[in-house]
Amino acid sequence: MSPAEPPSSNGAEVAARGGILTIDLAALSANFRLLKDRVSPAICAAVIKADAYGLGVERVAPALRRAGCDTFFVATLDEGITARRLLPGARILVFHGPMQGEPEAFHRHRLIPVLNDPAQIETWRGFCNSDAGETPPAALHLDSGMNRLGLSHDQVERLAAHPDRLSGIEIGYVMSHLACSEEADNPMNAVQLQRFNDLRGMRGPAKASIANSSGIFLGPAYHLDLIRPGIALYGGNPTPGRPNPMAQVVRLQGKIVQCRRVDTDMTVGYGATHKISGPGRLATVAVGYADGYLRAFSNTGFASVGGITVPIVGRISMDLLTLDVSNVAPELTRPGCLVDLIGGSVSLDAAAAAAGTISYELLTSLGVKSRRVYLSESFSKAVPQ
Ligand SMILES: *Cc1c(COP(=O)(O)O)cnc(C)c1O
Repeated sequence: MSPAEPPSSNGAEVAARGGILTIDLAALSANFRLLKDRVSPAICAAVIKADAYGLGVERVAPALRRAGCDTFFVATLDEGITARRLLPGARILVFHGPMQGEPEAFHRHRLIPVLNDPAQIETWRGFCNSDAGETPPAALHLDSGMNRLGLSHDQVERLAAHPDRLSGIEIGYVMSHLACSEEADNPMNAVQLQRFNDLRGMRGPAKASIANSSGIFLGPAYHLDLIRPGIALYGGNPTPGRPNPMAQVVRLQGKIVQCRRVDTDMTVGYGATHKISGPGRLATVAVGYADGYLRAFSNTGFASVGGITVPIVGRISMDLLTLDVSNVAPELTRPGCLVDLIGGSVSLDAAAAAAGTISYELLTSLGVKSRRVYLSESFSKAVPQ
């Protein structure tokens, strides 16, 4: 994967590509500090899997480190190796844990494996009890209701009955993951917390972690010793339905390439899915699904032009989309003008919802494909959404 370079926002370069995804590292840092202060003395870690949710781990991870973060989570061994290069002194945990043949690489890069099942425990134990020398501690994942990764109730019971299966392994943390934390009223949250507390009770004292971004806002009982936010750091609303406490980190802009008048009844775009009755004006913007701006935005998305929210009309094309700008002053819709697809009056979460998805998927889609531009910590002030 190529690094997200360059950070320049030189106009000529920007013109070369469709979507411009601006990532505000000051806002990112402010979000980290907000969560850290909220849960102190619990530790605030940062989840930087999937290239830091598409925003570019090369820039995001060091910025979080400068903001004071010293514990990071990635999904895979590969991501862990990249993170180690970027974060020499930090603690790095790998959610997927070690497959056979991988412990040596975990050891070499000082990566902390999350052990998700008896086979991973056995793999890691075999390695720890070989002549590997001093091995890093591990985290143990206990399943409390996701049924995705983690030891089941029966497996935890068996482990408690056979403590030798962990001999030679230092367990730094036990963790679990919430299924419904975005829904504050969902009874599943309290059920999972209770199950997790019971499960970890079975195997003796260890530091514990259950909260992702939304879990943090379920209350102090969920903070335990360490929190694991991802999306909230990147500006997603961890409290859906309530005002977003996080600063806006991403902005997606596109450039108008043409603005056309429509005087009679016409249709717009592939499949002629939108009918417009004149008189009106359409702006064609150089952003499409090749930039990660999902085709699901067809006829449902919005843009912000000079503070006015305007609808996307017709289907999203590969590198173009069309806005109905009949209500916007013509001088704001000339070729070369920029519109906000995320930003201005369009929040990240509202944009994602318009495409029938969540901020997580939209960010990872845009991040890989759009041009990324970074505002460094010294450059900008965090803007509340
Ligand atoms: C991705 C992930 C997180 C972070 O979740 P957010 O909702 O983005 O805060 C935390 N824990 C686990 C196990 C995850 O897979």
